[in-house]
Amino acid sequence: MFKSRIFGKSIVSFEKARHRMVEDQLIPRGIRGPRVIEAMRKVPRHLFVEEAFWDRSYGDHALPIGEKQTISQPYMVARMTEALDLTGTEKVLEIGTGSGYQTAILAELAAKVCSVERVRSLFQKAQTSLNRLQYFNVALKLFDGTYGWPEESPFDAIIVTAGAPDIPPSLLDQLKPGGRLVIPVGDRASQMLKKIVKSPEGLAATHLTGCVFVPLVGAFGWEPEGSGNNLGGSLNHVSDDGDHSV
Ligand code: SAH
Repeated sequence: MFKSRIFGKSIVSFEKARHRMVEDQLIPRGIRGPRVIEAMRKVPRHLFVEEAFWDRSYGDHALPIGEKQTISQPYMVARMTEALDLTGTEKVLEIGTGSGYQTAILAELAAKVCSVERVRSLFQKAQTSLNRLQYFNVALKLFDGTYGWPEESPFDAIIVTAGAPDIPPSLLDQLKPGGRLVIPVGDRASQMLKKIVKSPEGLAATHLTGCVFVPLVGAFGWEPEGSGNNLGGSLNHVSDDGDHSV
């Protein structure tokens, strides 16, 4: 058996933890897609958090990743991914790279993933983690993702991993006909996970589940915390130099 050890923990034990995560947290809650399950079994979630959290990285919860942000609970990652209906040919946009874990899951399941993050330190860490794991079908950008990524559009699927006050219009514009958008919408404290399908007849929305995400902060999201009022969709445009990532 493969006995390689990293920092005193065997790779085998993390693999076991991943399999247990799928059996105990995902399958009983209705995650069925074989490709999603395979990706959740494969991607080493612990490598997307600080070593101090490795022991808890396959638990049934979100974990801190610095800058007051979190890596989402495994079930939420699987649920959102499943809702995108990926077959392997798609170009996907993710808003809120965070740790890069959800990005890696998407990279397993789609042809190309474009992911936008507004916090520089998280963007850099995610870039390192994804490079180390050799996810070469991923492009990352440091910017306000409420504008989407016009130069790379259109997308077959868009996933927003932060809670929005409303659906940013640019994301709907950048979705292909037949495309799927999965986004938590609500107030700062809690949201409803929505799936929007863009068809020739228009937009069809389904409500998937209640959820709690960190806020989507930006021109078509929330104001940064402590800045007073919440003007969702305000005129708070930021430049492309990344210096807005506080
Ligand atoms: N998918 C991530 C979850 C990260 S939490 C993971 O698996 O780790 C949500 C992330 O969205 C945070 O990193 C936060 O900084 C980022 N975010 C919030 N508003 C954003 C915006 N307007 N554009 C890009 N990223 C944003």
